[in-house]
Amino acid sequence: MVTLGTGIGGGIIAGGQLIRGRNGFAGEIGHMVVEARGAACKCGGRGCWERYASGGGLGRMTRVAARAGRFPKLVARVGGDPEHVRSEDVTEAAAEGLDEAVGMMREVGWWLALGLANLTAILDCGHFVIGGGLSVASDLVLPAAREYLVDLVEGYESRPTITVATSMFGPRSGAMGAALVAFERLP
Ligand SMILES: [Zn+2]
Repeated sequence: MVTLGTGIGGGIIAGGQLIRGRNGFAGEIGHMVVEARGAACKCGGRGCWERYASGGGLGRMTRVAARAGRFPKLVARVGGDPEHVRSEDVTEAAAEGLDEAVGMMREVGWWLALGLANLTAILDCGHFVIGGGLSVASDLVLPAAREYLVDLVEGYESRPTITVATSMFGPRSGAMGAALVAFERLP
């Protein structure tokens, strides 16, 4: 389970069980480093996956590119200041078919696929379920991610069952999971 929101959350299920790890921190996949000298993260590190493949990452990367003059149409839509571009502006413009925004969503799809490929290298994953705020735009991100996975996953042709699907709970995935934990602990 991968939730794409401000950051990236995760849950690893193996054999029907949630993997909690030695100290309960397993699945902190958002802080997997994908760019050693990359963008600073609030965890104190650099180049964490969630600075690229999340909703927050989408906004950040778009502003970086816009400052360099890359997205004139997108910047014009938000009034001319690159600093005003939010991830919602990009997903909205992409849904309307604006080429610059569609291209940016594909870029996020590549970063998503990179992390999924890393997870696959360690866990030999069969299914990825994508939730969180950015999953409402999954039809603009997941097709690209699936395409890139073919090249990024080592030995992809030997792993024909990798699926990438949108969570039926979308942005509510995290809240649903938290509620389930409470139910499990009921006497
Ligand atoms: Zn981090």
